[in-house]
Amino acid sequence: MFDNYEIWWVTGAQLLYGGDAVISVDAHSREMVDGLNKSGRIPVKIVYKGTANSSREVADIMKAANNDDRCVGVMTWMHTFSPAKMWIHGLQQLNKPLLHFHTQFNAEIPWDSMDMDFMNLNQSAHGDREFGHICTRMRLRRKVVVGHWTDPEAQDRIAVWSRVAAAWADSQDMLIIRFGDQMNNVAVTDGDKVEAEQRLGYHVDYTPVSELMEYWKKVTDEETNALVATYFKEYAHDPGLEEKGTDGYKSVWNAARAELALRAILKAKGAKGFTTNFDDLGTDDINSPCFVGFDQIPGLASQRLMAEGCGFGAEGDWKSAALYRTVWFMSQGMPKGCSFLEDYTLNFDGANSSILQAHMLEVCPLIAEERPRLEVHFLGIGIRKAQTARLVFTSKPDKGVTATVVDLGNRFRLIVNDVECIKSKPLPKLPVASALWIPMPDFATGAAAWILAGGTHHSCFSYDLTPEYWEDYAEIAGIEMAHINKDTTIPSFKNELRWNEVYYMLNKSLC
Ligand code: MN
Repeated sequence: MFDNYEIWWVTGAQLLYGGDAVISVDAHSREMVDGLNKSGRIPVKIVYKGTANSSREVADIMKAANNDDRCVGVMTWMHTFSPAKMWIHGLQQLNKPLLHFHTQFNAEIPWDSMDMDFMNLNQSAHGDREFGHICTRMRLRRKVVVGHWTDPEAQDRIAVWSRVAAAWADSQDMLIIRFGDQMNNVAVTDGDKVEAEQRLGYHVDYTPVSELMEYWKKVTDEETNALVATYFKEYAHDPGLEEKGTDGYKSVWNAARAELALRAILKAKGAKGFTTNFDDLGTDDINSPCFVGFDQIPGLASQRLMAEGCGFGAEGDWKSAALYRTVWFMSQGMPKGCSFLEDYTLNFDGANSSILQAHMLEVCPLIAEERPRLEVHFLGIGIRKAQTARLVFTSKPDKGVTATVVDLGNRFRLIVNDVECIKSKPLPKLPVASALWIPMPDFATGAAAWILAGGTHHSCFSYDLTPEYWEDYAEIAGIEMAHINKDTTIPSFKNELRWNEVYYMLNKSLC
């Protein structure tokens, strides 16, 4: 999906040094953009948009960037000393993410041959400071990357931003549909959907379960049988489940039918994610011959759809559904996986004290350590208490990062926690997928900081994304980020939250 997007590169220059200099600047810029694209490290194509030599040229490029749906962000680099007043009008109009790349065409100083002609073509040391000043004076949110354009570390930092910028573009056209409302009385998964659309871009709509049932009615036996066969091929399972006429087979079959209904309605509405509520699954009596509805929450469908990038939040949690989609989008093509998770139960065990991460059904199989196992078990929560299918697995021991967005009433806060997933154990009496992690910097500090920040019990976890992704996301969105990591101490974290409170109170445009 990164193929649908591009990043625009604009080189700052001026005509002071003569036309020949600008021609060289242009040639250098092309070579640099070409080099970045050929590095294979940046998933979004960078498109060179020429040199900007005047206020008019800057404004024209920025207006074009705003109006081009393919453009997810603008990268600037000041080859020469580009007087920054000429950037003001353009930057005032730019409404796409901005990355300022502080680099230089030449790498090492050619001590013996350097002359004034060389200097005229390698001026970013001062040119990028002039540009940086006007961005800071205008209070523009942006990312600054420093490094030679051939340096893989600098390229990787651009790559992070390009993934975030593309995911941001994806979320500006993101419909999340809610089957049912929040779980009754729950605060943290709720919030201001109008503000979410203004600040974070996504649109959250209620969809009656009765409408979903219209799609469920149209699912054919043939397509359901075919999907059941796919399940048995893809997942480990007890051979007894394949025996038609058994309750186990029927549960798997019902799960497949629910998945097909969900896929159909998501496609018809163009939705990128959804939420469910176990108290709202269709209306009729499950024992009636006229029964219309799911036999339980469609957990297997949620697991499988998450693995394909569909946003999902349980119990009406639309913020997690949207954020999960963004996590998946940013980490496309990366190897280790991501999932919606819930702080399930605590494991007090000295230095290995940890938090079991699971959900009653809905954990994404992308994080599984082993081949997921399809199992059918009784689930006695919600309006339907019934046997239901789910994928069961434990997750890879590895480092990861988890994130959530909460609504503080006057603003959104992104809370990010570095975590260390450790080896989990099977849960023979609790057949759900799970992970087991120690929050950084340690169990007691990490959990306390998360709670002080007002964090949810639901979060969106990734093995592949680093905190830099979230730093870029918060910068683009203009929301607070509270990052809990190896350096966190409770006194300093508390102060950070208090200072942020004042900052966001004073900066009304960010609230
Ligand atoms: Mn939950």
